[in-house]
Amino acid sequence: MAIVEPLATSNTQGPQELLLRSPANGEEIGRISVTPPEEVIAAVARARDAQAKWARLSFAERGAKLETLRRVLIDHLDDVSAIITRETGKPEMEAVAEIVASLDALLYYPKHGERLLRDETCSPHLFIPFKKLVKTYHPRGVVGIITPWNFPFSMGLNPGAQALMAGNAVILKPSEVTPFSGLMIADLVREAGLPDYLYQVLPGDGTTGEALIRSGVDKIHFTGSVRTGRKVGALCGELLVPCTLELGGKDAAIVCADADLERAVAGVVNGAFFNTGQACASTERVYVLEDIADDFERALLREVGALRQGPPADTDIGCMIWDRQLAIVESQVQEAVRDGARVLAGGARREGEEGLYYQPTVLADVDHDMRIMRDETFGPVLPIMRVKDEAEAIRLANDSDYGLSASIWCGDHRRGLEIAKQLHTGCAAVNDFGGLAYGAAEGSFGGRKASGIGYVNGELGLRSFCQVQHIVVHRFGAKRERAWYPYTQKNLDGIKGFARFFFKSFLGRWMA
Ligand code: NAD
Repeated sequence: MAIVEPLATSNTQGPQELLLRSPANGEEIGRISVTPPEEVIAAVARARDAQAKWARLSFAERGAKLETLRRVLIDHLDDVSAIITRETGKPEMEAVAEIVASLDALLYYPKHGERLLRDETCSPHLFIPFKKLVKTYHPRGVVGIITPWNFPFSMGLNPGAQALMAGNAVILKPSEVTPFSGLMIADLVREAGLPDYLYQVLPGDGTTGEALIRSGVDKIHFTGSVRTGRKVGALCGELLVPCTLELGGKDAAIVCADADLERAVAGVVNGAFFNTGQACASTERVYVLEDIADDFERALLREVGALRQGPPADTDIGCMIWDRQLAIVESQVQEAVRDGARVLAGGARREGEEGLYYQPTVLADVDHDMRIMRDETFGPVLPIMRVKDEAEAIRLANDSDYGLSASIWCGDHRRGLEIAKQLHTGCAAVNDFGGLAYGAAEGSFGGRKASGIGYVNGELGLRSFCQVQHIVVHRFGAKRERAWYPYTQKNLDGIKGFARFFFKSFLGRWMA
């Protein structure tokens, strides 16, 4: 069953149409037209006009509009959740979790945006007290946001709220697999009374995404796979468009010998199977200390066995969202089993189901060369490896091309923090699910290595939607600077004396 099906068009000049199916039961849920490049360019031109007016508003005025959007969203909680579950097949709890993350963005940035973005003034090093430095955060202009299908609502709205708070206009290109949640954002924005064309949504596939990058936008915020991320990064590099790349992950969980077993098991199971494992920061591999491995596995299998899988209402775990990702999951598990992995739970699709249901799967006897331990799986699969000590767990966790997040389950949270600091990841959690790092608004979320470049959320994420300008202001002092023309012996001696004083003497270094 193909979730996205290109339709044959009678008019070869017209836009490509795509038919979308529910991953939960295969029924048609709607059609979209792929936005062609000329419409992308027209949308950017409309956005420029809207942005110029929006940027002139004060932080308080922009924040007030985003507050209205938050109120509209909470009023439509059930409608939005219905659209998300319809096109993803995820349990309603997970759709609501996505909306809560967006509500929080619409609360946090209006409240803290001004503090994080207002002008900063300081006395520049060396020139005290003659000059001052003003740092000012300008909006970049029109921001293109390109999103994946796993969190189709929050991936569009959360960075969008940050971009708007910073004074930008936004053009969202949602995934062709889940376009309707993105289109719903456009309806909410309209209802909240945000200016026309300030936040536009252009449905389409990769061709629309590429057209958006080429359209003259002032920044691209891309969330998606490493494969597409490399293409997006290369094109942005060629065009010199600033870009943020939020890419895939292969997050490790380390379970220490003194971990609270009940919390560790429940947390690892949630980390692995939340959103049917289709989260960038899903737990995709476990390193458990030998001493507790038997107890851990037994308790974990009990917990996994109790998960109820099925259509969105009243279940714990839903279907996979895209048939192509399901094929990747199946091939990784089959290959691992062929090479000696043992299936402790699941290991196949659910029989007799129309939808894309893959059973929650636990594997043992895996080794580090298997694809299941190296490539992103992005599905409900949890391979477990036993390790002799924490040092081995840290070494194996770091033996990865990815570096997004991780979770450490440890009896002593201070030691857990020390372990977390040794991991080559952008984020981590101690005695909690590594993906929670995305939900902490003050934290800036971003990956290392192949997991991405740049940040979303928090201070660094918000400021990434800005062009920072440093302005040096001469306050008082001589009519001419010593280093200016004409170059004279007297001035040269003065500069040398200045250098010796500031870079050699204790008093000079202290003053600088
Ligand atoms: P994808 O890379 O296939 O697609 C992402 C988006 O890029 C889609 O909108 C797609 O239409 C568009 N696209 C495709 N080709 C393009 C091109 N040449 N130019 C511009 N845009 C193009 O990813 P996906 O399968 O939709 O999403 C799953 C991936 O997203 C996983 O790897 C997951 O880890 C990652 N992800 C990362 C984060 C994060 O914050 N790091 C969050 C969620 C998902």
